[in-house]
Amino acid sequence: MTHVRMARDAASRRRPRILVTGGAGFLGSHLCDRLIGRGAQVVCLDNFSTGRRQNIEPLIGHPRFSLLVHDVVDPLPASLDVDEIYNLACPASPPAYAAAPIRTTLTSVLGALNLLALATARNARILQASTSEVYGDPEVSPQPESYRGHVDPTGPRACYDEGKRCAESLFFDHARMLGTRIRIARIFNTYGPRMSIDDGRVTSNLIVQALSGADMTVYGDGTQTRSFCYVDETVEALIRLMAAPGDVEGPVNIGNPDERTINDFAAIVRRMAGSRSRIVYRPLPVHDPRRRCPDIAAAVRLLDWIPNVGLEAGLARTIAHFRTELGRVPAEREA
Ligand code: NAD
Ligand code: UDP
Repeated sequence: MTHVRMARDAASRRRPRILVTGGAGFLGSHLCDRLIGRGAQVVCLDNFSTGRRQNIEPLIGHPRFSLLVHDVVDPLPASLDVDEIYNLACPASPPAYAAAPIRTTLTSVLGALNLLALATARNARILQASTSEVYGDPEVSPQPESYRGHVDPTGPRACYDEGKRCAESLFFDHARMLGTRIRIARIFNTYGPRMSIDDGRVTSNLIVQALSGADMTVYGDGTQTRSFCYVDETVEALIRLMAAPGDVEGPVNIGNPDERTINDFAAIVRRMAGSRSRIVYRPLPVHDPRRRCPDIAAAVRLLDWIPNVGLEAGLARTIAHFRTELGRVPAEREA
């Protein structure tokens, strides 16, 4: 075998270099773990606004893992040599984006532009973590990808919803105009270990309240619905979407269609946590969507993916995580 051929073969076997923005967050850190486990070289980019170093602590020092502290609002170094980009950088919890709405829009829009520029320059495939929030307060349920949404651009959630919608638009324009290789995942509510205790989303709030004996806060009358997907399954779907061969023409919903009312969800958490907390009702936030349930026919067809971790199994692992976080049991007992 010639040296040239050997070098070419070695190059073709080169480990993929993957950039994960928002890699120190809840979803991003699980994604980094999984990609490292698959043999990739991973660059985790984060500004630690809602992410935490402890999420990626076990990866620090790994020879195929590196951390880049950077804000996606600022342009990225063109020297960043990457084959794939997962763009997850953005606050995802309603209280987190309500606290910094202008920054949230900028993160989605400028972040998308900066990462698309890098992907285009490098001919890297880029996956955008979009959201079911692009459907707003939906008038159809379940929501297929063809549903165009029902978002009020003047409302307090719009910084997130419209920021993500604009990012999708930028992705498709880059694909049409510049040939950028894009993938769009519309992620529905995902839960699991590593959500922050003070994150403000329903799963972390209710579990922490149940474990600490505090009142469990249900907003509104609790008849609104969400469909909860366990984090490992969402991450698996993201990896499959990135790897799917050929052109994936449009966005793909990723979520678990097991739709629950928040009242049901609170009751299950209370029972599984062995809690005697009271369930109390608090005002419904403005524009809180009434229903949310993914139509996942596209994911099933294109990715051969279907979530099968049941809510109780996923909650058992998540409750174990929060028990550890709250210092109630030694870390080695975490599931
Ligand atoms: P998260 O808040 O835990 O993670 C977001 C990460 O992005 C954090 O580490 C944060 O520090 C980082 N970040 C935020 N702004 C940044 C910036 N300007 N520059 C660099 N880093 C920045 O949230 P998550 O639940 O892990 O969500 C990750 C992504 O998935 C988000 O884009 C979110 O919109 C999307 N998503 C999540 C869900 C879900 O249920 N978890 C649902 C739909 C979409
Ligand atoms: N919610 C609740 N109690 C809480 C936090 C949230 O009842 O302590 C409700 C919230 O009003 C919404 C649902 O639970 O109807 C999911 O909220 P979350 O913030 O997790 O995410 P969203 O799907 O609204 O982005």
